[in-house]
Amino acid sequence: MQDNNGTNNHFSLEMVEFNPEWQYDNHKTGEFYKNGVIPRKLFITYLGGNIQPASTDKVFASLENMFKSGALTNSEYIRIADYNKVISASFHTRVLYANTLNRLNEKYHCRPIITYICGASLLSKTMLRLFASYVQQEFIFVATAQEAFDLINAENYYPSGEQDYQITISQKQIDQFAALCGNILFNETFTFDENKDGVSPDDPLYDLYTIIALLDHDLKELQKNEKEQRNEIEQALEQSRILNTKLTEEKKIVEEKEHIQQMLIKKLNQAKIDAEIANLAKSEFLANISHEIITPLHAVIGMTELLCYTPLNSEQKIYTDTIQTSTQQLYQLLNNILDFSKTDSGQIDSNTTLFDIRTLFSDISSLLNDSALKKRLRLTLSIPPAIPDYLFGYPEYLMQALINLVQNAIKFSDTGEIILSIEPVSETPDNISFRFAISDSGIGIPEEKKELVFQKFTQVDSSPTRKEGGTGLGLAITKQLVELMGGRLELSSRENEGSIFSFVLSFIKPTDKSKKNDANSILPYTGSLHKNRLHSPMQSTDNTLQSNTRILLVEDNAINQRVASAMLNKLGFTIDIAANGIEAIDALTQAAYSLVIMDLQMPLMGGLEASREIRKMETGTRDPDIPIIAMTANATQQDKKNCLKAGMNDFISKPVTMPTLQKLLDKWVK
Ligand code: ADP
Repeated sequence: MQDNNGTNNHFSLEMVEFNPEWQYDNHKTGEFYKNGVIPRKLFITYLGGNIQPASTDKVFASLENMFKSGALTNSEYIRIADYNKVISASFHTRVLYANTLNRLNEKYHCRPIITYICGASLLSKTMLRLFASYVQQEFIFVATAQEAFDLINAENYYPSGEQDYQITISQKQIDQFAALCGNILFNETFTFDENKDGVSPDDPLYDLYTIIALLDHDLKELQKNEKEQRNEIEQALEQSRILNTKLTEEKKIVEEKEHIQQMLIKKLNQAKIDAEIANLAKSEFLANISHEIITPLHAVIGMTELLCYTPLNSEQKIYTDTIQTSTQQLYQLLNNILDFSKTDSGQIDSNTTLFDIRTLFSDISSLLNDSALKKRLRLTLSIPPAIPDYLFGYPEYLMQALINLVQNAIKFSDTGEIILSIEPVSETPDNISFRFAISDSGIGIPEEKKELVFQKFTQVDSSPTRKEGGTGLGLAITKQLVELMGGRLELSSRENEGSIFSFVLSFIKPTDKSKKNDANSILPYTGSLHKNRLHSPMQSTDNTLQSNTRILLVEDNAINQRVASAMLNKLGFTIDIAANGIEAIDALTQAAYSLVIMDLQMPLMGGLEASREIRKMETGTRDPDIPIIAMTANATQQDKKNCLKAGMNDFISKPVTMPTLQKLLDKWVK
């Protein structure tokens, strides 16, 4: 090409001077702007990144630095602008840039004669072409800076196809273009069709049409997408609304259910409390009513017994026998009810006691052997030698449970043998477990009744014609007793072959020390829960010895007073009666007695307190060491311990019978 001086010149990128002062870089945003010159001949600019309006000052400063250097002053130069790396540039920034460039060209008396644009977009190209026709400049669009250099060196300023580019726009074309824009804006179905819209590629506005068509296409796509997305969002919203409503409804249902549940729990708790109160009331009622009946019954039993000691003819003997059998049954029933109400309401001793298992077994044998023999049944006790004598447990409950089961075995067997056995099951250093079993060769219990017999007031044969009497409480009580001791009553039985009732209990093994400590309080088992055995009247009484012996009977109940004193009289003793502890102390201070028989519960001063007082020297009774026998109904093992602790010597259980009374007096009256 010919330069200003008419000399031939070759241009290449290597010849371009770059100066750091003519350059702007923002590493954070990725923007860059880089100016280079071949002095007075060529000005090249590389731009890139997102060109921000905020950074224009720095861009323009680097541009001005280049102009200030004088490299282009007073020259017509070739300009190359490489937009290939531009990601975006706002229209505002472009206008500012164009103005600044114009201002600097004017200021430094220079002018680009031709501008090569590399990598311009279709829209930029169109706008620049329009712009060029007004500023009388030439714009040549190339792909790369190298292509620009190649064209310059070939003296071919115009790329192929772009030569002789002239812009002439008629009013008609502008109107047509405006109409079309109107179409685009208002007609959603617009599509740009060259033939139909009469636009040829030669039309100066062809590029604009094309761009607008492209934009329109994109816009429609966007609109379509937007519509679809809007629909999707709306659907999702609708669904979430439905879900929300459902959720609220379900929440409401759950809340209602919770509310109902809370109410039910409340009601259930109340019902449970009511039931417990009712059960307690029932047990108390049973205990009270039984107690009320038992007191006069004691009198009936006692008086009948006394009657038996009077001369009776054979007819009267039958009557008294019948009274005795009936009272015995009534007494048993009442005691059963009392026991049941006690175990049912949990009013029982929870302390373990040291007891001798062999004595317990032989006591059962001596109590029940007679009734077995009467039915020609053999009662066998089996205790292997390996079983220790002493154990800690609940001897009264165990005794009562075993008696109930052996009694039933006797009652429901006509032949054969009843075996009460005990065998070790397991042992640890502290504990030992045994299986207790009561087997009989009786009528057995049918399979379908096995569960039933443990329920209270239930019998296998409840017909009025059944052979055996009973209340149907025995097994219910036994089951409760066994459970109280930590076991489970089990039954295996075959109809007409026999039954085996069994349970396993665990006992604490006593240490040598505990044996010694408790040795004094190993108690006899009669009385307490097991208090219901009547004995046959004594055949004869040798009462001459006791005629001068004076006994103080301390008892508040008039009937009991009468029964006991009648019996004692019958046995040949002289009786004084005191109605409570205070009266007793008074009597013992005034006169000499051989023995005191003392009730426990009395008004003003009970038996325990009275005994403690009598034993004190300072009370001033004549004989502080006088034997005191407690006379009790329903005494627990603990009651008995308390009696001993209060200084009493022995007990006698109500109903008092002549033989037991006799035995006791033989022991204590010297
Ligand atoms: P009952 O006072 O009627 O004997 P239990 O509760 O002791 O009350 O016994 C309930 C029922 O179980 C008895 O009536 C009897 O039918 C049955 N039963 C109990 N023990 C035996 C046994 N060893 N052999 C057969 N039947 C028995």
